[in-house]
Amino acid sequence: MDKLNGKTALVTGASRGIGRAIARRLAAEGAHVGVHYATNETAAKETVAGIEAAGGTAFAIRAELGVPGDAEALWRAFDEHADGVDILVNNAGIAGPGQIHEVTEADYDKVFAVNAKAPFFVIQKGLERLRDGGRVINLSSGVTKVAFPGMTSYAASKGAVEVLTLTLAQTLGPRGITVNAVSPGTIETDIHPWMADPAAKAHAAGFSVFDRVGQPADVADVVSFLASDDSRWVTGQNIDVSGGSGLGI
Ligand code: NAD
Repeated sequence: MDKLNGKTALVTGASRGIGRAIARRLAAEGAHVGVHYATNETAAKETVAGIEAAGGTAFAIRAELGVPGDAEALWRAFDEHADGVDILVNNAGIAGPGQIHEVTEADYDKVFAVNAKAPFFVIQKGLERLRDGGRVINLSSGVTKVAFPGMTSYAASKGAVEVLTLTLAQTLGPRGITVNAVSPGTIETDIHPWMADPAAKAHAAGFSVFDRVGQPADVADVVSFLASDDSRWVTGQNIDVSGGSGLGI
């Protein structure tokens, strides 16, 4: 477990859920990990403490995303702890429920601000810090592959992330930087409060050929591969991490 020794990583939205699992996994591989959070300092510090207890190193940084100047604020906070980054994971995101007739303009703007605009400018403002040979990994979603009409604006925001991934892979290739996305299926995190209902959870489990919902570590393990040298010949891709959801009818 030393594939990322000497590397510095930044994981957005790492105080809980998938981001926390990614931060833990990258740290377990030897990376020094920036644990970004929006408001829950206690949870971010727990993530850092857990990493340190397991023998890794990490630091917490605060910045609200989806507001003007968010990317600059994030990197200013990051700069207080590290002088460059090798692995940038754009994980922070929010749900955007609603069929098209239910989505207000304000809801749409918020979902796009956090899920699509923030990663765009976090990458843009991070380019001078991102070292050659680095990695950018963006969290998309299986809702870009299988239609979920009840998540219209969310799905569209993740579609933007996937096209950004493809485009930047071309832009950053000459620097040896790979840019990939991962698209989880239904993962058991706080983004899905409805999963507290066993019947709803069982229904979601049925999306996967393995008949279970995913766990954050199922995603973190794939991100760890994309962060490592093992994935050096993979770029501009969107890796489905959904337990085979939507494979058949
Ligand atoms: P989560 O709600 O548990 O975690 C989301 C994280 O993003 C939190 O740490 C939160 O603080 C952070 N965040 C949200 N809004 C923010 C803001 N305005 N500023 C800064 N940070 C903010 O959800 P999760 O399931 O761990 O989701 C992580 C990523 O995975 C998201 O991009 C989500 O869209 C994606 N995803 C999740 C699932 C799933 O089923 N859980 C499926 C596909 C994709």
